[in-house]
Amino acid sequence: MLENVVKDKFERPIISLRITITNRCNVNCLYCHHDGMVQSKDEMTADELYTICKIAKKIGVKKIRLSGGEPLIRKDIVEIVEKIASLDFKDISITTNGTYLEKYAKDLKEVGLDRVNVSLDTLNRETYELITKKDYLESAKKGILKAVEVGLYPVKINMVIMRDINQNEIKDMFKFCKDNDIVLQLIELIESENCDDDKFSEDYHYKLDDIEKELADIADDVRERKFMQGRKKYYINGGEIEVVKPVDNSTFCANCSRLRITPDGKIKPCLLRNDNLVELISHIRNGESEEKLEEIFINGINKREPFNQD
Ligand code: SAM
Repeated sequence: MLENVVKDKFERPIISLRITITNRCNVNCLYCHHDGMVQSKDEMTADELYTICKIAKKIGVKKIRLSGGEPLIRKDIVEIVEKIASLDFKDISITTNGTYLEKYAKDLKEVGLDRVNVSLDTLNRETYELITKKDYLESAKKGILKAVEVGLYPVKINMVIMRDINQNEIKDMFKFCKDNDIVLQLIELIESENCDDDKFSEDYHYKLDDIEKELADIADDVRERKFMQGRKKYYINGGEIEVVKPVDNSTFCANCSRLRITPDGKIKPCLLRNDNLVELISHIRNGESEEKLEEIFINGINKREPFNQD
C-alpha cells in the first residue's frame, strides 16, 4: 500500500489529501471552524481540482477526501468526483452534512465515490435546530439512508460530542447506526477560532476519555488504527464505534499522513497551523508545468512537522 509514497522529514508517509472544495454551507453549526471565506466564483474548478489530484497521485497519494463548507452545495459535485475518480485512487470519500445526499448519492456512487462521512450530532429535531440553526434533520437522515442504499461503504456518522447538548444521545445514535449498518464516529469538540461564542468550546467541551473507558468495558474487541492518528475502534454487539480525539495528542501528530488543500487553493501542511500555507492554485491558473506543481507539493510536504510532540 505504501509503494511510491512521499514521506515528510519525520518519516510520515503522505497517504491522503483532504480538499476543502467550498466554504459555503447551508447550515451554521455552532461549533464550526469555518475554513476561511472564498467567493463561489473563486472556488477551484472541477478541472483545477483534477489537476491537483493528478499531481497528488503522481507523488503517491492514495486517498482523496472532499470536504467544506458543504461540498454537496456545489452544483458540479458529480463532475468533480467523476474527474477525480478517473485517476484511479484507492479511496475517494466526502464529508457532508447529508442534506443533499438523497439527491446525489446514487450519481456519486456511479461516478466512483467510495464512501461518505455524514455529520449528524443528534437525532432530536430541537437539538438539531439548536446546533445547525436549520430544520433539516429529516433530509439529513434520508440522505444517510440513501447513501447506505446505493452502496456507498462504509457510511460513517460524525457525531461531535458536546456537554449538556448531546452527550446523552450516544446510545440512541449507536442504535440508529447499528440498525442501518453505519459506523459511528465520536468526535471530541475542538476549540474553534471562528466560533461566535468564545466560551463555547470551554463550556461544551466533553473529554472523550470517560466514554472510551465505558466503551472498552463493553466492547467485544478494540483495535487501534495507526495511520488514522492512532484512533481506536470499538466493536460492540455487531456495531462499530470510532473515537476521534485530536486535542493535545502527540500520537495524532506522529501518525498524521494527511495533507490538506484550503478552499482558496493553498497547501496546508498541518491541520493545527495556518502560518505555513503554500500557494498552489495561482500556479495552476498560470499554466505551470506538472513538474513545477510537483515541486510545489513537495515544498508543502517539507514544511510538515508534528504540532504536538512528546
Ligand atoms: N459540511 C460538511 C459536514 O457537515 O460534514 C463538511 C465540513 S465539517 C466542518 C467537517 C467535520 O468537522 C464535521 O464532521 C464536523 O462535525 C467537524 N467539526 C467542525 N467543527 C468542529 C469542532 N469545533 N470540533 C470538532 N469537530 C468539528
